[in-house]
Amino acid sequence: MDKNQILKEFSSDPDKYYNVKLFQEQGFVRKSCSKCGRFFWTLDADRTLCPDDGTDTYSFIGEPPTSKRFDYTQAWKQVEEFFVKNNHTSVSRYPVVCRWRDDLYFTIASIVDFQRIMGSKVVFEFPANPLVVPQTCLRFKDLENVGVTGRHFSSFCMIGQHSVPNNQGYWKDECVDLDYRLLTDQFGIKKEEVVFVEDVWAGGGSFGPSLEYFVRGLELGNAVFTEFQGELGQHTTLDQRVIDMGAGLERFAWITMGTPTAYDCCFGPINEKLYNIIGIDSDSEVLRKYFTEIAKEIDHYDDLNEVRRLAIKNAGITDSQLTKMITPMEGMYLIADHLRTLIFAITDGALPSNVGGGYNLRMMLRRINATISKLNLKLDIDDLIDSHIDYLKDTYPELDEKREDVKQILKIESARYEESKVHMKKKAEKIREKGAPTVDELITFYESDGITPEYLKEVDAIEEVPSSFYSKLSDLHQSEKKKAITELPLEQLPETETLFYKDDPMEFEAKVIKVFDDQVVLDKTSFYARGGGQEPDHGSIAGFEVVDVDKHANIIVHKLKGGIPNEGDTVQCEVDITRRSNITKNHTSTHIINTSARSVLGSWVWQHSAFKDDDHARLDITHHSSLNDEQVKQIEDAANKMIKDNYPVKIEYFDRGTAEQQYGFRIYQGGVVPVKSVRIVSIEDKDIEACGGTHVKKTGDIELIKITKTKRIQDGVVRLEFVSGPNAFTYVKEQEEESKKKEQQAIVKQQLEKQREENKDKAREKIPVFIEKVLAGESLESEEINNKGKLCFISSGNYDDYFHQNFGKKLVAKDDSAAFCGIFEAGPTIRVIVFAGEKSGVNAGDIAKEIASILGGSGGGDTKFAQGGGKDTSKKDAAIQKAKSMILG
Ligand SMILES: [Zn+2]
Ligand SMILES: [Zn+2]
Repeated sequence: MDKNQILKEFSSDPDKYYNVKLFQEQGFVRKSCSKCGRFFWTLDADRTLCPDDGTDTYSFIGEPPTSKRFDYTQAWKQVEEFFVKNNHTSVSRYPVVCRWRDDLYFTIASIVDFQRIMGSKVVFEFPANPLVVPQTCLRFKDLENVGVTGRHFSSFCMIGQHSVPNNQGYWKDECVDLDYRLLTDQFGIKKEEVVFVEDVWAGGGSFGPSLEYFVRGLELGNAVFTEFQGELGQHTTLDQRVIDMGAGLERFAWITMGTPTAYDCCFGPINEKLYNIIGIDSDSEVLRKYFTEIAKEIDHYDDLNEVRRLAIKNAGITDSQLTKMITPMEGMYLIADHLRTLIFAITDGALPSNVGGGYNLRMMLRRINATISKLNLKLDIDDLIDSHIDYLKDTYPELDEKREDVKQILKIESARYEESKVHMKKKAEKIREKGAPTVDELITFYESDGITPEYLKEVDAIEEVPSSFYSKLSDLHQSEKKKAITELPLEQLPETETLFYKDDPMEFEAKVIKVFDDQVVLDKTSFYARGGGQEPDHGSIAGFEVVDVDKHANIIVHKLKGGIPNEGDTVQCEVDITRRSNITKNHTSTHIINTSARSVLGSWVWQHSAFKDDDHARLDITHHSSLNDEQVKQIEDAANKMIKDNYPVKIEYFDRGTAEQQYGFRIYQGGVVPVKSVRIVSIEDKDIEACGGTHVKKTGDIELIKITKTKRIQDGVVRLEFVSGPNAFTYVKEQEEESKKKEQQAIVKQQLEKQREENKDKAREKIPVFIEKVLAGESLESEEINNKGKLCFISSGNYDDYFHQNFGKKLVAKDDSAAFCGIFEAGPTIRVIVFAGEKSGVNAGDIAKEIASILGGSGGGDTKFAQGGGKDTSKKDAAIQKAKSMILG
């Protein structure tokens, strides 16, 4: 939809779209900007320019238009007080990690809190009407602006004023009236200072007019009246019209304080602290000039670096002021801003990583670290975290609860950054040699090696961070791609009645309403369809085996093997009870392990994904490091404790909004729930999840959980593989047998070792004695050794490898007319070994080759020493006879 076209249309009929009661009552006049032509409403009859082009732009810096001063926290108190006084419910902020939408990682606007996706439609669910919310929003598109422009943040508080026009809520007139009175009555801004600009908003198939309100060129808020859907011209009015007024709390504080930047009044005591640590040589007049220049120029250039250069020139900043004041202040603001965002994100369960939304968090921490090292700062991050949380905890008490978790995560992540520096340095050198990389190449460096452009700038591998880097990266990681859905011939079919959510009979009769290929649709079914990581039921339909069950929208499709019934048949169906029971135990176990892992590891543990089959299951959780044996044992123990305590597993249905308000967004462990009525599976207050799976009645039914393996499968995700119920007992038994077997094997090995040592000792004693006897011409018949003159042959099992080697070697060494041939078993092969003295007349190689070939193997060597062997044990006697005759003649 073309926004400009809509704006033109709306502005051509201002009485219909923009002329609210307030304008008439107060005598606002409508004007067209003499520079850009946009329409705006003002009480100042002399005003000719819109706020963007006005001469008063950013003149509040150093000279605020209010007599009262409110910092960030105080500004919210003022806003809240005003709206509550005017019959609004003040709602606590929603998590910044957007668990209720699968198309967003982070909450980017207050209205997102109340949007739920149903199929392809966005619906609104408000917990109160009208309401106001201090919603922390995360946006990573303008990261390079943060700390530099004086007004860009990576997270900010959007004051959300929302209303649905009905008997409780209101529409345009009252909305604009409230916003005007908020500025004038509550904040004490003069009436003439407020300018409303006509604009439109469009997105997600709906659109409507909006009035942006400005004071001295600073946009404080935007009241959007979402009222139409469809294409302009053919549009219709929405069933559910919504007031979506979003205002920046940071800007409300800024306009009353008139500080050089919005950062100066929104981070509480942390700035003061950083000022002192960094030792900034600040001069407020220079800063006022510089940041006013920045603010004026920022919208007129695409390249931030250019804006910065211009502001330095126009404000007359010297090189020394730049390095001693501006650069360290930019760094300080960046650190304060990024840290605040990380505190919110980690508190709400996000982890810095290389995947999904975690990218942005890691990027921010790396920017903090790079800034610290660029400015050569000694900072105690824990102390800075404390400062932020102490300042914010009145408005956001949840931050206080997760204080230590935030510190722990940032410590681990910073240590990783330090470790990776060596690798990064090498890579940076290569980049420097190659010359300026493109933005896409920079993204690749970050994604595959974790190298930020700030780091590359710090080590002079690049000159400047391209201004499009962050918006490009943020686009890549804003939302996940959805997988394609296969089309099946299911149009016009009624939704399948799901018996597994009712009486759940394991045997039932049903009517076949559709058959195609090897697939069957019934009017009702107890076969659980694959979903939420739970594998489908098996069993039989009309005597044919059910091998797969899937759900397509609300229709369940069974895949059969061996045959198929006819459409219209009434068929007998049977669910495989054992399989179902095992899968069910594994599913409840997943919930138990998830909550156990969270209690052992930390609040950042969330289910990443899960898989439950009948003989094994796995749960992937969000966690920063691999698990050690101790942690695995603790998780397993905690899980089995829950089984022992035999808690009831309760299943209840709630209205989605009620469930969220009552239990919070922890319920969305398995992802978003696209239905209005949420099925809540709770194990006392230990674990409460929205879940569509099958579950045991009491945790004791599971009997036993064993974690079989854990692995860090990707950055920030750890996989726990486990078994439960009968499979767990089988696993324990197998483990026991395995360890018994290993024990036994160790004993046998030890005994053999001992035997060998004893044999060696014996051989050392006997060999010299035997050699004496052979050379003296005495018979060794009694020792099972055949000798004839100085020629010896052994085939007795009494002698091992060691004896053969040593006896033969020493015999021929002592007398070069002696020779030795031995045959013995070594594992599965029969080996032959031959030593022949130079004057013995025996050819060692010939004997070894001949005997080895009899045994079906090979042999080799020279005339003096040779060996070989083969595996054909049936030829052992033949080999012995042959060898004996070859050596002894
Ligand atoms: Zn203008
Ligand atoms: Zn579940």
